[in-house]
Amino acid sequence: MRLRHLAMELSKLPPHPQHDVTLEQYATEGDFAVRWIAEIITRGDLDDTTRVVDLGAGNGILGIGCHLAGSASTLLVEVDHNCQHVYEGVDWLIGDVQGWTGENVDLVIMNPPWGAQTRKADRPFLETAFNSAAKVIYLLHSSHSTHLVPLAESMNWVGEVVLRGIFRIPAIYTHHESQNGETEVSVWRFERR
Ligand code: SAH
Repeated sequence: MRLRHLAMELSKLPPHPQHDVTLEQYATEGDFAVRWIAEIITRGDLDDTTRVVDLGAGNGILGIGCHLAGSASTLLVEVDHNCQHVYEGVDWLIGDVQGWTGENVDLVIMNPPWGAQTRKADRPFLETAFNSAAKVIYLLHSSHSTHLVPLAESMNWVGEVVLRGIFRIPAIYTHHESQNGETEVSVWRFERR
């Protein structure tokens, strides 16, 4: 699928409700999702044999993007049932990330909670991904985070930043603070050591 077409399809998804502060629901914007998926393809990590799991999927923008780019299968794992919608060709697992078995997967993609509202909220995501059967993990997180690579290495994964961008933070997270509502994000790619 051409990238322009991918962007158009992703723009038709129902928007993430972004209503629950405690779940740190910072949705990925379509343009950034497309750049990210293009990067995954360029690196040879996504083709028609790849089984994809999107952890903390929200409206599924990342997983559905991989599905549209031609993955073999796509599972969207999301605790907030308000995010779920019918999308042909993808499966949902509505529940906590730790309820996913970690099996039948080649590529994990995720933009999990960062642990900014609830300390270490990203931990179950990181541990679930690093303990899964995946060959490669793509993870979006704050560019300021420093704990990712050490944690990955302790679990025998190595990683590098492959993409950077700016995220707009929804107003529900910023109205008490004098932030400009933007933050720098990075995408890490991890593979087994
Ligand atoms: N991947 C989407 C959403 C990112 S926001 C995107 O990039 O746009 C993080 C998502 O993780 C939210 O949708 C939130 O509801 C979900 N989430 C938070 N804690 C969770 C948990 N313990 N298990 C599963 N999903 C969780």
